[in-house]
Amino acid sequence: MAVYIPFDNSFARLSAEFYTRQKPTPVKAPRLIAYNTSLAQALGLSVDTLEERAEVFSGNTVPDGADPLAQLYAGHQFGTYNPQLGDGRAVLLGEVVDTEGTRRDIQLKGAGPTPYSRRGDGRSWLGPVLREYLMSEAMYALGVPTTRALAAVETGETVWREDALPGAVLTRVAQSHLRVGTFQVFAARGQAQELRDLTAYAIERHYPDADGPMGLLRSVRDAQVELVAAWMSFGFIHGVMNTDNCSVAGETIDYGPCAFMDVFAHGRVFSSIDRMGRYAYGNQPNIAVWNLAQLATALIQQFDNPEDAVEEATQIVHDMPGLLETEVQRRFAAKLGFSSVQAGDDVLIDELLNIMERAEVDFTAFFANFRLGMGRDLFVAPTEFDVWFANWTQRVCNETDVDTLMEQHNPMVIPRNHRIEEAITAAVAGDYTLFHRLHRALSAPFENNSEFEDLRLPPTPTQEVKATFCGT
Ligand code: AMP
Ligand code: MG
Repeated sequence: MAVYIPFDNSFARLSAEFYTRQKPTPVKAPRLIAYNTSLAQALGLSVDTLEERAEVFSGNTVPDGADPLAQLYAGHQFGTYNPQLGDGRAVLLGEVVDTEGTRRDIQLKGAGPTPYSRRGDGRSWLGPVLREYLMSEAMYALGVPTTRALAAVETGETVWREDALPGAVLTRVAQSHLRVGTFQVFAARGQAQELRDLTAYAIERHYPDADGPMGLLRSVRDAQVELVAAWMSFGFIHGVMNTDNCSVAGETIDYGPCAFMDVFAHGRVFSSIDRMGRYAYGNQPNIAVWNLAQLATALIQQFDNPEDAVEEATQIVHDMPGLLETEVQRRFAAKLGFSSVQAGDDVLIDELLNIMERAEVDFTAFFANFRLGMGRDLFVAPTEFDVWFANWTQRVCNETDVDTLMEQHNPMVIPRNHRIEEAITAAVAGDYTLFHRLHRALSAPFENNSEFEDLRLPPTPTQEVKATFCGT
């Protein structure tokens, strides 16, 4: 059977300033681990046999119509500008327009070295590949904008990190891989024409109604507001909100040291390299604004007189904290069964989170239990909770859609760290049963399915994963 992927590569038609053509480096013995059949269908692919899937999604066979390349970008990493990053371990095979008419990138992550690899080997080990597969598909099922996982393939090669580890390649699908950092690199280099071309490209691809660079800025802002508010409502901590990991399309991208929080704390940090707590749970809205300010700074460089655009750009950025606050409140209100935010709801929401933090209550378990009419049992000394609950009871009596709203906004199962770690450990030992089971549970996170009751449970003290690693 023939491999067919209906490529139409718009990014590769841009000038060569934006990328370097780069084929994936073949691997020794590719073996398919997972394939997202429904996504493949939506993309119009026919890659039918196990062998073909392993060949194509390891990079060993470059299908007809692909135009593989590594993209150039820069970015602020933990607040410090790095003038040159780029796809150091990823190769964009090309784009397809899916059955809904949305253009999507198909990218191999872990496909070998590129001109942007710096000291890296361009490879990935199995752990981060499985992690991203599970995390991104869980996010998708939760309804949060995200890049997706199309395939995971073992390479049959060894990757050297602290130990010798099995290598793997993840196929990532995204609305695009344009990042804030893609604009920053051309702004910093004073390449105004490239900046204009990139702006026009981003508008056409993502926000056809946006009017010019400031329209683009406004659209990216609104997409990021939706995104970060959704993260907050599910207790998700991205972990590396660097500007190179901030998608212009507003998707969650770069599943490095990210995690869903267990015990709730505003200041919770997982990433082992985030020593200052820059990307702590409660700081994510602030960082989203900071990142948008970097995009604004880059975008205005394309005007003949950048000063003329400063006022409008500033206003767009300054409006973002208020928009974020409103959207976060709307989502938390829905978690509590409220169809809209009314006066006093902000206090009620803050109060609950503060009580949860003081009592060290598990975030997801609380809201899942609450939806089932429980939750109190998670508090060792529920006095404060009882007072709060009396207020909630009063507030909710005029609401008519309480159960539906709570079911739609409070997942029963999320990809808990200890479960992901457990699945990775088993996979490294050759057993994918846990990986596939977890994947199945996460594909219907709002369902109250007794088959997966064990996956709902918070970690015991010995199971708890305290830190996550970039783990490239
Ligand atoms: P990230 O932390 O995933 O956002 O990556 C930051 C930068 O490091 C990007 O330019 C990556 O392409 C690059 N990078 C990360 N891991 C590797 C690797 N194993 N080999 C080459 N480049 C890498
Ligand atoms: Mg990245």
